[in-house]
Amino acid sequence: MNLTGATVSAAQAALPLDALENRILLCHALGLTRVGLITQSHRTLSAAEADALEALVARRQLGEPIAYIVGKREFFGLDFKVSDAVLIPRPDTELLVELALERLAPGAALLDMGTGSGAIAVAVAHSRPDARVSALDASAAALDVARANAAANGAQVRFLHSDWYAALAGEKFDLIASNPPYIASGDVHLSQGDLRFEPAAALTDHADGLSALRTIVAGAAAHLAAGGWLLLEHGYDQAAAVRAMLADGYTDVQSWRDLSGIERVSGGR
Ligand code: GLN
Repeated sequence: MNLTGATVSAAQAALPLDALENRILLCHALGLTRVGLITQSHRTLSAAEADALEALVARRQLGEPIAYIVGKREFFGLDFKVSDAVLIPRPDTELLVELALERLAPGAALLDMGTGSGAIAVAVAHSRPDARVSALDASAAALDVARANAAANGAQVRFLHSDWYAALAGEKFDLIASNPPYIASGDVHLSQGDLRFEPAAALTDHADGLSALRTIVAGAAAHLAAGGWLLLEHGYDQAAAVRAMLADGYTDVQSWRDLSGIERVSGGR
């Protein structure tokens, strides 16, 4: 592939990835928007642009997630910066944000546990500036990304460096939400696709997949205000196990399906 001197449209046609990925990498390498690709379709690529584009394509061909290559991913209509310090936000998790937004009374306090890129906390705080949103993570590198995302999206979030509830003292919240690491050790998905490049600590508990969920449930009662909701994202086959964790002490225990029809979030109050 030597795209020096090629027009933008010829380069787009020549790229070897699928159409969406070709377009994303071409926009990134040339600093163009989607519309710019069309309005500038006849301009030609410099040698430096061609080299940069070819380097991006080579990284993608080695399997690196496209979100890490371009350094961002859209979630809940907002742009999130991502690096390999954080899980790439998934559309499935938008369900958790919607459920949280439906349950937050004016001025309510929400805690996002294991915030990673800050996706849940920033999406909620952006939609509901009245909410008092806190987010914690055990990874300082992840918190740097999350703070940048809050600032870039004009969202007010208090961030805490904390191993689950450790840094919280006696504080209570009206809603605790989490998308914790829930993939069991040895699950084949960990060695496939984007997951190979994402932080293991964001994906797996290195056990049966339920241990982080158990830890969150075990500590939640001490940090939920009366009537407060606990909402947990989990794996496709974990809904019954998570409902069982909530059976003792919670009401309105239920699971909600994601866009693929999979029970993806369970919770109670
Ligand atoms: N939903 C992610 C996946 O299966 C996993 C995220 C997580 O463990 N919290 O790719």
